[in-house]
Amino acid sequence: MTRTAPPLAPVRIRRIVAAPLLGESPKGGWSNEIRAEDSVHTLIAVKTDAGITGHGSVFTDGRLVQAALGVLEPLFLGENALEPERVSEKLHQNTFWMGRGGTLTHAISGIDIALWDILGQATGLSIGRLAGGRHQERVLPYCSLLMDEPEVMADEIAKYREEGFRAFKIGWGPFGRRDDAKLDAAIVAAAKSQLPAGGKLFVDAGASDAWWPNGLKWALRTADMLADHEVDWFEEALVPDALEDFVTLRQASRLPITGGEVLTRRQAFIPFITRGAFDIVQPDVTKVGGLSEQRRIAWLARDFGVKYVGHGWNTALGLAADLQLATALPNVDLVEYIGGSAYVDRIIERPFGLDADGMLAIPDEPGIGVTLDPDKVARYTPDGAAFFAAD
Ligand SMILES: [Mg+2]
Repeated sequence: MTRTAPPLAPVRIRRIVAAPLLGESPKGGWSNEIRAEDSVHTLIAVKTDAGITGHGSVFTDGRLVQAALGVLEPLFLGENALEPERVSEKLHQNTFWMGRGGTLTHAISGIDIALWDILGQATGLSIGRLAGGRHQERVLPYCSLLMDEPEVMADEIAKYREEGFRAFKIGWGPFGRRDDAKLDAAIVAAAKSQLPAGGKLFVDAGASDAWWPNGLKWALRTADMLADHEVDWFEEALVPDALEDFVTLRQASRLPITGGEVLTRRQAFIPFITRGAFDIVQPDVTKVGGLSEQRRIAWLARDFGVKYVGHGWNTALGLAADLQLATALPNVDLVEYIGGSAYVDRIIERPFGLDADGMLAIPDEPGIGVTLDPDKVARYTPDGAAFFAAD
């Protein structure tokens, strides 16, 4: 047998450009709330000498991403964009002394997603196929909404139910922050009352917020309340680093315990997965190190009997990356979809749409499978022309 196909010629990185998104940043429910003009989500364009551009997304302030690109430039200039895992790891390995797991890791996440996008475009394959194959053609998105007073919460769920969503997550806002267990229960009951038949409801305490006031006893009591309401998971019930308390909570709780959205680097997940802190782990592909890192975390979790659900909801590209892993990995039954975000719904050529079953199709076009629309992106970033320039 002969193997005659020549190797693909290298595709060299010429520039990497960041586009901070501003103007319609969705609220986070944070105690120090995100303002519309704050940039917490940033798009990345990796430009190459072959005329192929890859796009990615970072959940971090655009100014930090731009600074990170300056630091990383000597390491990525001229690199072969067809080797995402090697190039991303090179960036990680050579910057360990500058705050691994922080802004640089976040920025590398966007670069890594863009490199996978380039590899897909160069080979004509979707990232899902490149990363292992297609286990499924569609997946259930859960609509992520901020908690609010019970009546408002019920109206919000009803609004997105009418748009076709069948699963919901409510979180942050007043929940757990007013020392009022009756209010917390009333919000959950109001949301439950508006679910479609067979619908799911997840609850996110958002304990990574500044000055989270509660500990293990609150989490145990609240988990009981949520189980009584037949809630489908309890997310970030404890401050993010409370490993031992998470282990205790998971063992004691009747409903699944989830978390991990603020952890970065695959290494940070090892104790949480191997010690049994979570029933479901939720790495964020736009912070954790990108697709290369997220995929390894998801496989590690699987090998320890822990489910994986992605948290890359921040932009259409984060969601698109999660969709590719939702097919490349076995048994992924959900992706997060933030309700009403311009940066998810209004920056790509063909917006995401739910089918009659409330499911999202997983694109099988080359690369990340969705295409940014320059005119739409230009509404939310200061210099869209530079971001999309062909140079
Ligand atoms: Mg969360």
